[in-house]
Amino acid sequence: MRYHIWTEGCQMNVADSSRLSRALDSIGLSVTSDVNQADLIILNTCVVRQSAEDRALGRLNSLKPLKLAKPNLMIGLMGCLIGVHGNPALEKRFPWVDIFAAPSDPEPFLRALEDRLQHDSSEAWRKQVDEVLDDEFGLRLEEAHAVSENLPIVLGCSHACAYCVIPGKRGKEQSRNPKKILQEAKSLVAGGARELVLLGQIVDRFGLELEGSYHLPQLLADLSEIPDLRRLRFLTSHPNWMSDELIDAVAVLPKVMPHIEVPIQAGDDEILRMMRRGYTNSQYRDLVARIRERIPGVSIGTDIIVGFPGESEVAFMKTYDTLAELKLDVAHLARYSPRPGTYSARFLADDVPAEEKMRRFRALEDLQKEVVGNLNAAYLDQSVPVLFEGKPKNRWRGRTPTNRLVFVETDQDLWGQELDVRIRWTGPWSLLGEIQDQV
Ligand code: SAH
Repeated sequence: MRYHIWTEGCQMNVADSSRLSRALDSIGLSVTSDVNQADLIILNTCVVRQSAEDRALGRLNSLKPLKLAKPNLMIGLMGCLIGVHGNPALEKRFPWVDIFAAPSDPEPFLRALEDRLQHDSSEAWRKQVDEVLDDEFGLRLEEAHAVSENLPIVLGCSHACAYCVIPGKRGKEQSRNPKKILQEAKSLVAGGARELVLLGQIVDRFGLELEGSYHLPQLLADLSEIPDLRRLRFLTSHPNWMSDELIDAVAVLPKVMPHIEVPIQAGDDEILRMMRRGYTNSQYRDLVARIRERIPGVSIGTDIIVGFPGESEVAFMKTYDTLAELKLDVAHLARYSPRPGTYSARFLADDVPAEEKMRRFRALEDLQKEVVGNLNAAYLDQSVPVLFEGKPKNRWRGRTPTNRLVFVETDQDLWGQELDVRIRWTGPWSLLGEIQDQV
């Protein structure tokens, strides 16, 4: 039996899809990249913005004829379109979907397969399904993993930013058990992973909702002890929880990369207040200064929403000027999209016209292109350690400690190796170089 997974959205969704994939592999299914070959098609959905939701619904509609042509085909829907509380309206609207699963939950798929395969399913098979479900992430030592793997450490979110649908879809914040995380990290590394990206909606809150003092700095220190692990990253941080202790852990622990993702979202204090972010522009700027002072050569990424309700031209220019001044390494840009059930969708008018949102988006895009182009130009002729992840086309692809993409043309096998690369060309989105070391 073959399955196909289509994944939309954030790294957490990518991690959920890998987890489901491992669960399906372990009960004997095999993956296919061709939808037409699949007996089970899974859409892992995102609803953070209307555009993502529209893509998921479009995909879903496109599967209807396939299901009519192949009645035995199983179609499964998971992720934030459904949410942790379920979404009964979807079951009515899409009767050709067989399986509905909440984010991070492979169980409905395994149960449905159990039913479907009942005629030839043995006791042993059923026991195996139970085992897979007992084992939170279904990782096994002998499995092959990617060079860089995502590892969720905080599930859900309890912050309730005014615009954000995630807390309602992924449930309340829950830090995972450190022992489990360490165990999974070891399995991932034993299977070939060399970099782990720790994930959470507010990852710097890891452990803070629990009693005790085991927080992100301790976890980073413990994970650093895994011998074959070379690099650690974590995202996304919230400015209010970026403690000096955490910043120092990044500075001191050699395996933790100098790379912080900490969104500002908007530059204007009134907009930040309406967004319920809990900090001001000047507090954010102080944080950036603190991070840069303590972690030399650090790369800082941010997220921005343009066109939040009430964002005037003057307010927008505060965002623009802040980005122009701070010269951050990455800015993930989004146009405000009212999401059902959120505070801003219920109480604030979506009053910035679509064209104006687009204009502001483009203005920031142009600014960042120039900023990052200039930052990257400083890499020219420098030698940087690059961890190689794969060879998507004819060039090897890897990343610098600051998370910049580097391409190298070579016939050598660089998989999972960290090598010094001399940078020969730079652009705003990637660098080209040649290997310095002898392989
Ligand atoms: N919890 C993380 C990531 C949230 S989703 C964080 O706090 O950073 C990723 C990004 O999508 C957010 O940072 C925000 O910039 C954007 N986003 C979230 N809700 C949005 C909405 N309703 N409209 C537009 N962008 C949104």
